[in-house]
Amino acid sequence: MAHEHGPDEQHEPGPRHELGHWAKRAYAMRDILIAKGVMTEADIRQHAEFTESKTPANGARLVALCWTDPEFKARFMADPKTVCAEMGIDASTLNEFVILENTERVRHMVVCTLCSCYPRPILGRPPDWYKSFNYRKRAVNDPRWIMREFGLEVREDVEVRVHDSTADMRYLVIPARPAGTEDLGVEELEKLVTRDSMIGVMDALSAPPE
Ligand code: FE
Repeated sequence: MAHEHGPDEQHEPGPRHELGHWAKRAYAMRDILIAKGVMTEADIRQHAEFTESKTPANGARLVALCWTDPEFKARFMADPKTVCAEMGIDASTLNEFVILENTERVRHMVVCTLCSCYPRPILGRPPDWYKSFNYRKRAVNDPRWIMREFGLEVREDVEVRVHDSTADMRYLVIPARPAGTEDLGVEELEKLVTRDSMIGVMDALSAPPE
């Protein structure tokens, strides 16, 4: 399966002499594309700003709606890109978008073993640890160890499934709705849905952060 970065992958800006080989190469390609008139500086800036504008808030809203509305959840799980479009979330850059739901018996964890494929329109930029070699390796070899590092002890009778993202396939985890939140509305529930819970390494919060 092809494993190439999508158009939403960005390099960190910074002084060029401090950049590594691949970043220098990316800048060199950018310079050539601008020089040849394929794209302009403004196009690139606009795209970078568009990418930066995406945050995990989109994912949190979707999860909170799934928690409160079973019909929404069923539609979202069956056809996530259409539901995103209806909500004004542009997920068109995702090829296959798969929604995974944590249950009492099964929990899901997402990794990209080769690089950093991530559902950016839904969760924004991936955290640095997601891109680290340590996470990419450990997530496959010992996902329970990773969760323990995040402060989560998963019971032995709960099955852990690890999903490897690629350019063609991106995943979003719906964490379990925390106990004691039956009276909360969508806006309050959104505050409980963290980025890490949607990657699957943590549970949702049981109370909003201070
Ligand atoms: Fe990747």
